Amino acid sequence: SGGGVGSAGTRFDLDKETELRFEVEAGERVQLELLSGLAEVFGSELNRNKKYTFGPGSKIAVFTWQGCSLSLMGKTEVAYVSKETPMLLYLNAHAALEQMRRQAERDNERGPRVMVVGPTDVGKTTVCRLLLNYAVRLGRRPTLVELDVGQSSVSVPGTMSALCIERPADVEEGFSVQAPLVFHFGSTTPGTNIKLYNKLTSCLAEVFSQRCEVNRRASVGGCIINTCGWVKGSGYQALVHCASAFQVDVVLVLDQERLYNELKRDLPHFVRVVLLPKSGGVVERSKDCRRETRDEKIREYFYGFRGASFYPHAFDVRFSDVRIYKIGAPSIPDSCLPLGMSQDDTQLKLVPVSPGRDLTHHVLSVSCAEDEGDGPRSRGILESPVCGFIVVTAVDTQAQVMTVLSPAPRPLPRHTLLIMDIRFIDLK
Ligand code: ADP
Ligand code: MG
Repeated sequence: SGGGVGSAGTRFDLDKETELRFEVEAGERVQLELLSGLAEVFGSELNRNKKYTFGPGSKIAVFTWQGCSLSLMGKTEVAYVSKETPMLLYLNAHAALEQMRRQAERDNERGPRVMVVGPTDVGKTTVCRLLLNYAVRLGRRPTLVELDVGQSSVSVPGTMSALCIERPADVEEGFSVQAPLVFHFGSTTPGTNIKLYNKLTSCLAEVFSQRCEVNRRASVGGCIINTCGWVKGSGYQALVHCASAFQVDVVLVLDQERLYNELKRDLPHFVRVVLLPKSGGVVERSKDCRRETRDEKIREYFYGFRGASFYPHAFDVRFSDVRIYKIGAPSIPDSCLPLGMSQDDTQLKLVPVSPGRDLTHHVLSVSCAEDEGDGPRSRGILESPVCGFIVVTAVDTQAQVMTVLSPAPRPLPRHTLLIMDIRFIDLK
């Protein structure tokens, strides 16, 4: 494979069950076209003679079950065809889940709840996308539960969310994110506040279960839970907690035998724990690369995909019109806690933040919690989903106002704001 097709690009002829892997160089774009046969990108089928564009840093695999010809145009860091892929094993995993959905349909029970786990850079997010795509292509309506607060595929970093999947992921953009349920976590690692992380996991599980009770298709479709790469200590405990909160039936462990053995030991016997190899194509990402991806995700939230579609608004917000909180007081030694207070209480405490210059560039979640004065609160702020995000671009302490970047024009829909550790510098 790999012969030229003139100025059009490089042609690759793939045998069945092989994949073309490529990485796009920094600052470059690459166009992919399916010339003949059938092929898919992480479970989304390619249309023939359509040009797909991938931006800088993209790491892509084009897999074919039947064989195909592809053309690649633009500067790639690497581009090669591999015959060694775990795709057949992943397809088998999908087939087993589909079997469970069929059984659920027949016996009037619920479909599989699946947790995908493993260290960083083993292809967890990719496997989730693949399984969701295969399920939705069969007409199922699975739910993606995104618990990776560092690299969320659904919302901005620092959030935990759930999304009903109704169509396959767009080859270039991923899953269409309409009406996701999003909770504010506030930082890119669960370790910052593990109590909050576990609590929000439970919140998501509860909402999902409620939805399953009223929506048969959601119940049969089940869920695919994507998790963080932190699999030791409290990170591991968070996985065990998640398995129990969601009453997970299947755990797919990517790449790590130790984690597999630990979960087999610690989860109830009826949970099927399956070890799967990682794909040789999965690329390790540096810290910088992760940070860039996070930044890009926030930029996308405000400006849309590839900077063309959305036009965010900038306006002033008076300090007196909002209440800003941080979740979690700094932890203090147990011996110093006031009588009757536990460490839990400090981690789940809402701490009012008085606005100052150090708010600049911080991402704030706009909580859906009803504003005080609008009547009794139906839910606590912690357990309320968020309705959107803003970024503080400037603070004027003299005038007691801050300037914010917002996806919608003023006024803010709600006045309870939660501050994230995460900052975004708007270069537009
Ligand atoms: P994790 O979620 O475990 O950190 P990801 O699923 O995000 O890992 O994969 C890491 C990177 O590798 C992503 O950029 C993804 O697009 C890429 N990738 C995954 N599978 C392949 C493959 N078979 N060939 C090439 N790149 C891949
Ligand atoms: Mg991931």
